[in-house]
Amino acid sequence: MNGLDKAFAAAGAAAWGGLPFSQLAEDMGTEAIRKAEELCPNPRTVLVAAFPYYAGERGGNLSIYARGLDYHTVVTRRLNTICDFLKEKYENSRFLPAADNSPLPERQAAWRCGVGLRGRHGLVILPPYGSYVFLGTILTDAVLELPERTPSPGCTDCGRCRSACPGGALGEGGVEVSRCLSQLTQKKGELTAEEAALLKAHPLIWGCDCCQRACPYNARPALTPLPEFREGLVDALTGADLAGLTNRTFREKYGDRSFAWRGPAPLRRNLELRGE
Ligand code: SF4
Ligand code: SF4
Repeated sequence: MNGLDKAFAAAGAAAWGGLPFSQLAEDMGTEAIRKAEELCPNPRTVLVAAFPYYAGERGGNLSIYARGLDYHTVVTRRLNTICDFLKEKYENSRFLPAADNSPLPERQAAWRCGVGLRGRHGLVILPPYGSYVFLGTILTDAVLELPERTPSPGCTDCGRCRSACPGGALGEGGVEVSRCLSQLTQKKGELTAEEAALLKAHPLIWGCDCCQRACPYNARPALTPLPEFREGLVDALTGADLAGLTNRTFREKYGDRSFAWRGPAPLRRNLELRGE
């Protein structure tokens, strides 16, 4: 095991890879490249890592990914340990960790490095954790020695995710975000009648796990070893949990969760639509 293998394993990553920025840039638009270069002038390498989050089968009305501590914070903190390790060797270089909040296309980075499989539902599948993994990246201006890479193969293309998708969001071209209930549960403001009907029939008030639950790779996923995603989980919210909370007190109570960023309004609306 080389130094980076050990550092990623110690950080809790189940898999990692790396590739030249110039290769990932082929999957990026001009604006994303500009933003990446603004963050890290002369970017040379992207590292990508996967962190499992499945905590076992539990009841609840929040998406599985949203029940533990906010993954943005957890993954960035864990990637920071890798950055500290690399800074010892490359002391004049920049190392910028990010999780779902950078201009880098994380899934494409993973697939180009051979981290997991390309799921037809647009997610990275990493057996034995299934698609229940968070991705994080490190962008750097250092040229790193990287392991050999073979791009990820596709999944079995069984079609179960497409059949299970309540919004009809999965087609040949990938995910149509405007039809995805994961986005819809987070939508603020007015809903169309069709959107309201979809949310009323949906079992979750935040997120949508339908395509992931239908996928055979997620039939018996391995449990996460990471305590932030295994302990102190918020599986469900009720009207009583949210009663009387202002935006400020809601954030005081739930600000360490990824479902908190929109405030309490969409959650209350979704509960009401379901008559809860
Ligand atoms: S998260 Fe739900 S709505 Fe979105 S693509 Fe998957 S099954 Fe469809
Ligand atoms: S449900 Fe089938 S087609 Fe969809 S991602 Fe899983 S293996 Fe691929």
